[in-house]
Amino acid sequence: MLKDNYEAVKNNIEQACMRSNRDLSEVTLIAVSKTKPVPMLQEIYDAGARDFGENKVQELCQKYEELPQDIRWHMIGHLQRNKVKQVVGKAALIHSVDSYRLAQEISLQAQKQNITVPILIEVNIAKEESKFGIAKEDTIQLVEEIAELPNLTIQGLMTIAPFVDDPEDNRLYFREIKQLSVDIKNKNIDNVTMDVLSMGMTNDYEVAIEEGATIVRVGTGIFGARNYNI
Ligand SMILES: *Cc1c(COP(=O)(O)O)cnc(C)c1O
Repeated sequence: MLKDNYEAVKNNIEQACMRSNRDLSEVTLIAVSKTKPVPMLQEIYDAGARDFGENKVQELCQKYEELPQDIRWHMIGHLQRNKVKQVVGKAALIHSVDSYRLAQEISLQAQKQNITVPILIEVNIAKEESKFGIAKEDTIQLVEEIAELPNLTIQGLMTIAPFVDDPEDNRLYFREIKQLSVDIKNKNIDNVTMDVLSMGMTNDYEVAIEEGATIVRVGTGIFGARNYNI
């Protein structure tokens, strides 16, 4: 039962919060529902989930139409500029901003809709070639540049840690990005809050919470393995 998976993940989150002396209310669980059909999302919704993560604009928009309006949709995948228009106004938070040009387009569409769009800056913390995201060394400069754009607020950072067998291997990366977010917060840049840290997936969300994650993104742990061939 999906509900049981969902409850088990929530229980693990609670344990990780206790271990690290954190308040449970500081951590938001996003149910990463990419490739999964609407009835499965509805099942998790009925169990209490209100935050869902998708990595494709078209899929997010379709599910947005079909599921209850009080869901907060998170855009967690690589975003192309020509798709920004569709997702602005629908996504509660865009996690995957890694260039000035992308931020510019989000700002433009936000101005047209007369809304302010919350975003995260995606950092490629382990410098993996296969991953999107800005290098750690370039993050502060990018944040400063994007912060100048109207109708955006930079709420924090997002990272996808390497796929490892032992989640402990990612602890140092999580610590590094937490420190980076603290350094940026201390600069007190206008339009930058740095209260959100989106890190940790099925394999390593408990370690991520111990190191300061405020959002964890769990797919497989809730919905089971994904099949990309259907
Ligand atoms: C797919 C995905 C996840 C969820 O991964 P699982 O290992 O299934 O929990 C989290 N974050 C991003 C950005 C993803 O694309």
